[in-house]
Amino acid sequence: MRPARVIIDLAALRHNYQVAKRLHGGKVFAVIKADAYGHGAVACAKALQGEADAFGVACIEEALELRAAGIQLPILLLEGLFEASELALVCEHRLWFAVATPEQVAMLEHHTVAAPVHVWLKIDSGMHRLGIAPAEAKSMAERLQATGKLASLNWMSHFSRADEPEESTTQQQTECFDQATRGESGESSLSNSAGILAHPRAHRSWGRAGIMLYGSSPFAERSAVELGLRPVMRFESQIISTRQLESGEAIGYGGSFVTDKPMRVGVVACGYADGYPRLAGTGTPIAVNGRLTRLVGRVSMDMLTIDLTDLPDAQVGTPVELWGEQVPVDAIAKRAGTISYELLCHVKRAAFSWQD
Ligand code: PLP
Repeated sequence: MRPARVIIDLAALRHNYQVAKRLHGGKVFAVIKADAYGHGAVACAKALQGEADAFGVACIEEALELRAAGIQLPILLLEGLFEASELALVCEHRLWFAVATPEQVAMLEHHTVAAPVHVWLKIDSGMHRLGIAPAEAKSMAERLQATGKLASLNWMSHFSRADEPEESTTQQQTECFDQATRGESGESSLSNSAGILAHPRAHRSWGRAGIMLYGSSPFAERSAVELGLRPVMRFESQIISTRQLESGEAIGYGGSFVTDKPMRVGVVACGYADGYPRLAGTGTPIAVNGRLTRLVGRVSMDMLTIDLTDLPDAQVGTPVELWGEQVPVDAIAKRAGTISYELLCHVKRAAFSWQD
């Protein structure tokens, strides 16, 4: 077996959900779309069943996978429905869904439902991606109510810059949402992880926690540890070869790294085909049997190379943590010029196991 593997800490997942609940108050959706950000949606949903108020997924396929696995809690489709045929499935599987476009309102007007549906009307409070224009919120709500097909009408919006705590956009979006929904009843939900962690004035009856559940910080300047979060994914592999190089020798494709002293180098069985970012260059931290060292040279498809000069005990078979407790995934994302969300979603080929 190739040694690249992923271990998911489900106790850490539950801990992080509790952090979200404590900070936000009220109810909190556990956002487990995109296969729970690469952590395994069914395993994560089962682990959270006794704690979570409800789950959030992107689309109906993701919700059906959870229902097929026996998950009974409410599930919200965050993007809503795109085909009328989805309405039958929504009723059959008791799914909640966002209504974020005029086309989705019309769909509900023109098609029958087998049972009243729970709708979350999504307001575009400033993200300008999905969502009903604030000025049309009330008329859309009236049209939805007039269908007589609703079990409940609730309200949501999504922040574009809540991860920048000093930025005024979140305050403006909150005010826009409040104005658009003034006088309306129903539940409401504004905050993603960054909103839950940094914008208490944006807390409403429901929060929507995603990245924080997985133990990663949404903020550039505040670490997950500072936020009281525990990493959920440990991505690890092993050293498969070592060699001693002289000063002045180039390592890997393009010879982009040249030794400036005699250096002992290890080859690790993990590359960009496993989901390790190719753009994480020389200097990216990596933990070898609990001790930190650095990546040297370019990441290849199946391998990467590390500096073992100060780790004489490291040998073929020595375990390596690519990210997890000792090397935060946020640190790797920063080095690669991306965000942890992308790295977590893209781990492939490694064998997964879930620990409770
Ligand atoms: N709500 C919606 C509508 C989303 O699309 C997402 C994720 O992108 C979330 C909540 C969770 O966001 P985060 O992972 O930043 O907490």
